[in-house]
Parts: sequence; C-alpha cells; structure tokens
Amino acid sequence: MADPIGPVDSSKVPRYAGRDGFARLPRLDQVGRADVVVAGVPFDSGVSYRPGARFGPTHIREASRLLRPYHPALDVSPFAIAQVADAGDIAVNPFNIGEAIETIEDAAISLTEGGTRLVTFGGDHTIALPLLRAAAKRHGPVALLHFDAHLDTWDTYFGAEYTHGTPFRRAFEEGIIDTEALSHVGTRGPLYGKRDLEDDRRFGFGIVTSSDVYHQGVNEVIAKLRDRIGDRPLYISIDIDVLDPAHAPGTGTPEAGGMTSRELLEILRGFRGLNLIGADVVEVSPPYDHAELTGVAASHVAYDLVSLLALRHDEGIA
Ligand code: MN
Ligand code: MN
Repeated sequence: MADPIGPVDSSKVPRYAGRDGFARLPRLDQVGRADVVVAGVPFDSGVSYRPGARFGPTHIREASRLLRPYHPALDVSPFAIAQVADAGDIAVNPFNIGEAIETIEDAAISLTEGGTRLVTFGGDHTIALPLLRAAAKRHGPVALLHFDAHLDTWDTYFGAEYTHGTPFRRAFEEGIIDTEALSHVGTRGPLYGKRDLEDDRRFGFGIVTSSDVYHQGVNEVIAKLRDRIGDRPLYISIDIDVLDPAHAPGTGTPEAGGMTSRELLEILRGFRGLNLIGADVVEVSPPYDHAELTGVAASHVAYDLVSLLALRHDEGIA
C-alpha cells in the first residue's frame, strides 16, 4: 500500500482552517481504505436526563484540530505508521431506537471489513450495544473495559429495553461479551439500590471505582486490569462522564468525584500491547460544555485510542 496520507500540514494551513475531519485527517472516501477509522454516531434518543450528545461527534472533531501528529508518551506517530481516516457520521433514525441500533451495527460491520479498526464517537451510550455486536461477529465474545461513572447494566426504564443505561446488560444477555474479562472503571455516585451491584456482579463485571483509582493509584489499576484482560480481544467503551464534571461538564448525567483527564489518559497508555480491537467515546453533550473542556478531553482520549490501535496495526496483529 502507498504511504499513508496524513493530516493537513499545520505549517501550511493554520489549525483553525482547512479540513474538518478528526485531527484534520483525510476522509475515508479520499483514501479508499484505512487501517484505523473514526466514525461519529449523532444519536441521543436513548438518554434519560440531559440530551445533546447527538452533537458530540462534531464537537469532538472541532476540539481535535489542535492534536499534533507525534504522541510523545507512547513514542508513536499514529498517522505515519497506519492509514487513519475519518469515515464521517453514520446517519441514524432519531425516532426509532431499534432501527438506529440496526443501522449502527451494519455500518460498524462494513467499516471494519478487512480488519480495519474502528473508534466511534457518540452519541449516547446506547450505541455501545450494536458496536459490541459488530465486534463479536468478527472476534467472538470480547473482553470489555467500560469507563463510566455508571454501571449501564440496568434492565428497563419506562419500559424501554434499549437506552443509554442498559447496553451492557443486553450485551451480557446476548452473549457477546466475555464474562471472564469485564470491568467497569471509574464507577461512583448513588445507585437505586444494592441490587444494582448484585445484578452487575452476576453478569461477571469487576469494578474499579473512582475511589479505587484515587487510593490505589494508576499503576496498580493498570496492572489489575491487564491481568484480567490477558490477550483476549478487547473493546474499550469510554463514557466521558467517567471524568469529574470539572474535567468534562458537557455530558448527560454528571456525577461528582470523578477521575481527572490525566488519570484516564495515563490508564489508557498503560494498555499498550493489549489486543485492542475497537473503542468508543460517548456521552459528549456540547450544549452543557464550556471552554471546550469536554471536547478537548474527549478528543485527546480518542487520540490515545487511535494511537493504541495504530500501534496494534503496526505490530501486524489482526
Ligand atoms: Mn455514565
Ligand atoms: Mn454510560
């Protein structure tokens, strides 16, 4: 394959001009195929509190214009070792959640054909279910690291089975996640009752709470999670509300006492070498953001995920 086509050269075109794709990368249709793609899912019909995440993909892309091509902490130029492109947004029905879920699954299957790795920008957390279905079709039941203030293993809400609070319960019921290797990270805040935790444990989830991250520290958390995941195919789902509202105010269901963006990025960097196959960053709601705090955090988190996937590609592991 030809040399990768990288982002727009910021020494020639200032960062606030030019392409509007993630990190000013080319569009997928400009490069034909890619090793890593990002795609947006502008969908927030599954939210239980504040809406607005349908505008998340655009906001993450806008905040990503300041991302530079070399990642010093991982010592990698992700856009040079892999063809990375922006596939744009998946157009989903805002009035029919069932249909939206099917559209997302189909799009994810088609985008990952031939082994392309996908990082998806939400959208609310409902979208993780079809993304996991697509991942499981390719890899079998996947290990899951779920960064979130919330468990998202609730059953129904107002009678609805498919909402942003239920994707991982549905994924367990469908047998698409590996129950030996599931962890929530950053969980905190009040629950409806103790039963929430009992159900969650029954599905196989381990929990690293936000307090655990504080008391144990990032390195111990990384070691524990790596031990649990091993070399299984791993999917990472990041609800931006895992960060404290001080770091990510622009989200649907904020909870006090969250991680800093530094802690989250450090944990992700500790996953180098794991068999990461795909990821999402969800629940960015720009109407509640200010000073681009949430957008900057989400775009940097996405950059780290893309970098890990590019490294994985470079190691030649499908
Ligand atoms: Mn959440
Ligand atoms: Mn969530």
